[in-house]
Amino acid sequence: MPSYTGSCTCRRIEYSLTLSSPDDARTTLCYCKNCKKAFGTNYGLTAKIPKDALRLTKGSTKEHSADNGSGSIVHREFCDNCGSFICEYGDAAKDQFRYLVVGSLDDPEVLPPKGEFFCASRAGWMPEVPDVFHKQKIKE
Ligand SMILES: [Zn+2]
Ligand SMILES: [Zn+2]
Repeated sequence: MPSYTGSCTCRRIEYSLTLSSPDDARTTLCYCKNCKKAFGTNYGLTAKIPKDALRLTKGSTKEHSADNGSGSIVHREFCDNCGSFICEYGDAAKDQFRYLVVGSLDDPEVLPPKGEFFCASRAGWMPEVPDVFHKQKIKE
């Protein structure tokens, strides 16, 4: 079973990610407004993984929960020392999935993207990722 490690910037939080297969992680770019704001960049880069695949091996996260602007609650977990973003998940899926912030992996290249969401909101200077799926709006 593939196993990966990750951490926040200051490494007070460390985790392991264990998957039955690399196909159990779905990495996507998302150009929606919420991702732009939350990530502070022009897209969000997360890997959808089964909740139980992610295990903290050191420290604990600080959770923030807030309405995402369309009536559903989004939970986001951070390091309360350095502020690094670790994962997010919608309230409806919180018992099943985590959206892991791919940049928190010690080697972020192990989970390359499989698709792009909200391509209609992609910045004009941002090229399309080749050979992955492209959805104009939805994120499911
Ligand atoms: Zn930290
Ligand atoms: Zn998004």
